[in-house]
Amino acid sequence: MTDRPMGFDTLCIHAATAPDPATGARQVPIYQTTAYVFRDADHAAKLFNLQEVGYIYSRLTNPTVSALANRVVALEGGAGGIACSSGHAAQIMALFPIMAPGRNVVASTRLYGGTIQQFSNTIRKFGWSAKFVDFDDPKAIEAAIDGDTRALFCETICNPGGAISDLDAIARVADMAGIPLIVDNTTASPYLCRPIEHGATLVVHSATKYLTGNGTVTGGIVVDSGKFNWSASDKFPSLSQPEPAYHGLVFHPTLGNMAFTFHSIAIGLRDLGMTMNPQGAHYTLMGIETLALRMQRHVENAQIVAEWLEQDPRIGKVTYPGLKSSAYHHLAQKITPKGPGALFTFSVKGGYEACVKLIDNVKLFSHVANLGDTRSLIIHSASTTHRQLSEEAQIKAGAAPDVVRVSIGIENVEDIIADLDQALAKATA
Ligand SMILES: *Cc1c(COP(=O)(O)O)cnc(C)c1O
Repeated sequence: MTDRPMGFDTLCIHAATAPDPATGARQVPIYQTTAYVFRDADHAAKLFNLQEVGYIYSRLTNPTVSALANRVVALEGGAGGIACSSGHAAQIMALFPIMAPGRNVVASTRLYGGTIQQFSNTIRKFGWSAKFVDFDDPKAIEAAIDGDTRALFCETICNPGGAISDLDAIARVADMAGIPLIVDNTTASPYLCRPIEHGATLVVHSATKYLTGNGTVTGGIVVDSGKFNWSASDKFPSLSQPEPAYHGLVFHPTLGNMAFTFHSIAIGLRDLGMTMNPQGAHYTLMGIETLALRMQRHVENAQIVAEWLEQDPRIGKVTYPGLKSSAYHHLAQKITPKGPGALFTFSVKGGYEACVKLIDNVKLFSHVANLGDTRSLIIHSASTTHRQLSEEAQIKAGAAPDVVRVSIGIENVEDIIADLDQALAKATA
């Protein structure tokens, strides 16, 4: 290897891995082990004191899992990170070092439904809370921040409607308030957007989606930019002051830009245990090898399908930001210049009934509650994920009764269009 920085596609295949030192194995081995033999008592003591980096127990770190975390860190341009058991686990792990009872996170109203749920109810069990505001309006974000706010949280490309977050503008609000911006980059993947370059402090992923890419693994990643000064105020005592959960270690002064990552491993993974397993990490590493190729095809197909739908008389509105008709078209060119993802919604003339018929008649598309698969996926939110909501709430969430959501796969685009065409014919007959 030369000294010049490697390109993104190369990093997808090579970052953070070398042939196995013990065997020369070219591929990262699946280290299916729980524990690691210490060289001697002194070595063990140094590991537990964080004076030497190494493996102790796989709830904390495992070579296969670390290879995955570090590869995504390289792709996102971060300083450190961890892999964990799901995207939802990653969100808790990202908040854990910076939150405390009574503290809140200011979050976008346009988040993945599961995250709205996690932030509305479940985190209250920890004494944390969330305030939801419209992240298209920096003034509204500013107004929601109070003395107990410890982070801003949004998604790069918002699910399901494909709204794009102006990360630079949001990061400026976070900077002024002296708090980190956490960006869920699941729907963009680092191929389409690297939020740290737009001012994000932390990036979280559901590795379940594009990173793995084929619907085989549930996993999550947290990446820390290493750029936030946790000691600039007294807002982040777990990082800036002696941490009672780790015999009084002062993480930020001692570990610098790796403070957040080491806190996440030494305390977060140790005590919350939301660890990824080596098999899952292996599958995700395999997926990432083709991330760049897949994302290119995902956005290429999504653009063609969205344009085809938009001109079809059976269709109402198409929300894809790659279309000039989208309110987010300009922002997409700034935030996701290689393409605004492959997830969007469209409305069908004929309403709820037509949508249900469409779903029942697709053959290539799979009717599932997932996204980011190689396969094209479709769901009618109003009759599934959003069926408990009132019609008014469904409309607000971008899941009106006449709307279906698609995650466009990497099949031949002619086949994707042909499938929608035949199903639409039956749905609107
Ligand atoms: C799926 C998803 C999550 C949750 O991830 P899991 O791996 O299912 O826990 C979070 N955010 C977004 C944007 C998602 O699509």
